[in-house]
Amino acid sequence: MITPDDPTTDDLGPGDITPDDITPDDITPDDKDWTWVLERVCPECGFDASACDHTDVADLLRANAADWVALHAAGRIAPGRPDPQTWSSLEYACHVRDVFARFDQRLSLMLDEDDPLFPNWDQDATAEEERYDEQDPDVVIADLAANAEVITARLDTISGAQWDRTGRRSDGSNFTVASISRYLVHDPVHHLWDVSR
Ligand SMILES: [Zn+2]
Repeated sequence: MITPDDPTTDDLGPGDITPDDITPDDITPDDKDWTWVLERVCPECGFDASACDHTDVADLLRANAADWVALHAAGRIAPGRPDPQTWSSLEYACHVRDVFARFDQRLSLMLDEDDPLFPNWDQDATAEEERYDEQDPDVVIADLAANAEVITARLDTISGAQWDRTGRRSDGSNFTVASISRYLVHDPVHHLWDVSR
């Protein structure tokens, strides 16, 4: 289900930007609901979260983190947007680093509390406020790998009825631990595709 006018600012994925939205050195806030990725193949990166088992997510995230490390080793993580409305590879790496941390927090909340409401996260505002494109790629990739270890270690501990525990986003989207795991894995996969292509 696509709800393109959904006002949430708390979504993953690159923004769909219309020419009217573009201002120099700025990226329009992503206000799209990306939960459709749970139901069908992403037409861009080709990842199919609907065919992904939640028990496979930890291994997929480990492989993804290793790919980011390899890209960095090849000198492919660098500042500088290719155009004003597209993040640089460094900004994407910062975002993925923060996705791992953010979703580890959400998993922790869902495991510890009954049906928690997640704090909002405006990913584009965060990119600007924390000056993603001015950060040190060595540190960013090391932190991305460390954050991936933390969230995959947590995922490895989840079993049985824990996968059915619930949590809510402020836009009304409801998740289980299983579905939010399948939801989150698309983001680093998609952004690796963004940077690799
Ligand atoms: Zn995708």
